[in-house]
Amino acid sequence: MIAKALSDLLAEIPKGVTLVAVSKTKPTDQIMECYDAGHRDFGENYVQELLSKQAELPKDIRWHFIGHLQSNKVKLITPFVHLIHGVDSLKLLKEIDKQAAKNGRVVSCLLQLYIAQEETKFGLSFDECSEILNVLNTLKNVNVSGFMAMASNTSDEATIRTEFRSLITYHRSVKATHPQLKILSFGMSSDFRIAIEEGSTMLRIGSLIFGVRNYPQ
Ligand SMILES: *Cc1c(COP(=O)(O)O)cnc(C)c1O
Repeated sequence: MIAKALSDLLAEIPKGVTLVAVSKTKPTDQIMECYDAGHRDFGENYVQELLSKQAELPKDIRWHFIGHLQSNKVKLITPFVHLIHGVDSLKLLKEIDKQAAKNGRVVSCLLQLYIAQEETKFGLSFDECSEILNVLNTLKNVNVSGFMAMASNTSDEATIRTEFRSLITYHRSVKATHPQLKILSFGMSSDFRIAIEEGSTMLRIGSLIFGVRNYPQ
């Protein structure tokens, strides 16, 4: 059933758009159903859960950390993480750079932008983001390769579209000076079709693949 949901979803996603299967709270046998169907990109948002799944599962899985990352936990995931989506401060980015250097790695990161009208989400304002972009060349062990964002939790399509567009507009304004910013991670189960239309290059989708989670996260 999971493999069927995954392949139905993949059929709807254009070439050039990456699907991150968000497996948080879901058991490893369900991840393996996707893995056996050929899928390799999985997203988790709790460090401990990611660590135990990474230890247990095949080593060619590309693990995306999509949650809110605390600086003191960075060192736990830098040895293997494929992409850290939710970087929302220079302090955090510097810690990732430091830990990546210790591991002899360059770790790919996305800066999380605050685009929603709601107050509850993490993320940088466009101005704060630009300040970080200005000092990127001092950090040798991180590769800031794009942006991540979440739209408001609303069924109003126009609001979601407007929020996604604000990210696209911002990206347009910085991509000439920062051509490495190629990944635009936005779009979840409820809004991925709008996200594709608005130019997402990376979707993070959980419940459409694995079913609804037993507890909200
Ligand atoms: C849980 C989560 C998702 C996936 O949500 P679904 O609605 O299950 O698709 C995407 N991004 C982040 C940051 C998440 O925490």
